[in-house]
Amino acid sequence: MAFDCCNYEKALENFIFTMVRNSSDNSALTADNVKEMCVLLDISRLDIEMYNNVSDAEQQRGDITTVFDGGNADLQRDAAFSVLPGNGTVAGYRAYQYKEAPDWDENSYRRIKSFLNLIHIFCDRSRLMKIADYLAFHDKELETYNIAHFVKTVNSAIINGTIGRYDACYFNIKDFSDVNNMLGRTKATEVMKKYIARLSELLADGEAVCRMGGDNFTVIFFKDNLQKVKDYLVAADVEYGEEGRTVTIRSSAGFYDIPDDCPDVAQVMDCINAAKNVARSDMNITSVFYNDEVMQRDAERRKYESLFSKAIMNEEFQVYYQPKVSLKKYKVSGAEALCRWLHNGELIPPIKFIPVFERNKAICTLDFYMLDHVCRDIRSWLDNGRDVVKVSVNLSRCNLGEPQLVERIIATVDKYNIPHEYIEIELTETTTDVAFSELKKVVFGLQASGISTAVDDFGIGYSSLNLISDLPWNVLKIDKKFLEVSQESTAHNYLMLKHIISLAQSFGIECVVEGVETVEHVKVLKESNCYMAQGFYFDKPLPRESFEQRLALNV
Ligand code: C2E
Ligand code: MG
Ligand code: MG
Repeated sequence: MAFDCCNYEKALENFIFTMVRNSSDNSALTADNVKEMCVLLDISRLDIEMYNNVSDAEQQRGDITTVFDGGNADLQRDAAFSVLPGNGTVAGYRAYQYKEAPDWDENSYRRIKSFLNLIHIFCDRSRLMKIADYLAFHDKELETYNIAHFVKTVNSAIINGTIGRYDACYFNIKDFSDVNNMLGRTKATEVMKKYIARLSELLADGEAVCRMGGDNFTVIFFKDNLQKVKDYLVAADVEYGEEGRTVTIRSSAGFYDIPDDCPDVAQVMDCINAAKNVARSDMNITSVFYNDEVMQRDAERRKYESLFSKAIMNEEFQVYYQPKVSLKKYKVSGAEALCRWLHNGELIPPIKFIPVFERNKAICTLDFYMLDHVCRDIRSWLDNGRDVVKVSVNLSRCNLGEPQLVERIIATVDKYNIPHEYIEIELTETTTDVAFSELKKVVFGLQASGISTAVDDFGIGYSSLNLISDLPWNVLKIDKKFLEVSQESTAHNYLMLKHIISLAQSFGIECVVEGVETVEHVKVLKESNCYMAQGFYFDKPLPRESFEQRLALNV
């Protein structure tokens, strides 16, 4: 049958129309589409091959190229040509003629070319739509979902009436900057990718972990999976490098038990975000579940953050001094400077604002403000001929990344010309290798300048014996938890206390026990051979004037 040009064009038009209408689901050309096309073009003995990785040379030859190659032996092809894509794309199409088929004439060539061009347009369109779809709902770097996917999933669950079957969570990886510093950016990204991939593997269809940006993620998951997700986020060991080394990744997470009548995705976001912020605001907390108190605490956090700069300027932060008492002479032989915030006549305790400022790094400013004010006080005591004791100042571990930290501490002390033996810096334990090596630098640096150093809150968190054996600390401040009295653990606590003290002393480190509240505690300390106590049994943290009076009576 002769090929009818008019019918062909009409049929082609119909074909394109159908393709456009049917391709809204982004699927590529199907084998049936190709068959249909062959019939249309009256080129039934044609084989189409789609391939990737078009070589640069092939690409540069332009739109349509005739290629001859061995390729598929079954077809015994001896002639073929391709439609090559324009710059920047990598898919190409080759048409192969059967060996025994009659040669293609010029018209056949023309038809086949337009055929391949059409395939090219459709496949490219479909491919681009897939790429656009991927980019819209995925995070390219980690190859995971993004915020748009989270919004889409929550929205469709709301529309389908299934939202009440889900819980949502927002988490932030703790101290990921340490992993970055330790492994370098590329390896650290690999670790993050694995961490997220393993979490995704725990999830089923319809659930998803989505990257919000940086080290922040959300998870939408069925209520039954809560424990699984929660446990994973508390701590997971992730392998890196070839030697099977692992790094422990921990996250702070805020959870929301989504109700059936949840109106929109904004409510889910607000709740998980508030819960996550509260979880992040305390380094020792991992998971927080949304409730009204969380919302209140989150509002408080935002309030404190916004008030900080002005409060520093107006000197609203006050230094309170809590005496450290020697149990040999019952005299004050040191003091710890503790921060209080006097705002609009209200005295805000540090437990409320320190975690907030640790999170946004304002703590670094506050710590130096405190050191500055302590030095100013000591200078005035020295100038007025008063007795002076060594004062310890808390330095949050958030300061550890600062390259000139030791120099800045010394410069502040020297600004007031304070003899270095009057200053002690209290630092808490660290959680990662990088923070540990930073800590090492600081402790050695301060030691060399004659400023003493103390480990604060020893015994809670991730205490390791390396901490006391590898660094030249002057003082170990043992946490008050060892003095807690309970039916099961009192004897055990006291025993631990005794051994920690003896171990520290064998390293030449002086011990101070915090939270001494009773005469019984004093007895326990003495029996454990520890003669420095800090606690309410002797004194509460005192405002400057009261502390001055206390020192004046220190006979
Ligand atoms: P810390 O450094 O371990 O300070 C000791 C805390 O124990 C103080 O709480 C003190 O008031 C409390 N304490 C003392 N004796 C007793 C006792 O006998 N029983 C009980 N239950 N508690 C006692 P405070 O002043 O509320 O400070 C809490 C924490 O806030 C401090 O713990 C410290 O980690 C942080 N902090 C306070 N001021 C600063 C500061 O200027 N900079 C930094 N980075 N952190 C600070
Ligand atoms: Mg302290
Ligand atoms: Mg302490």
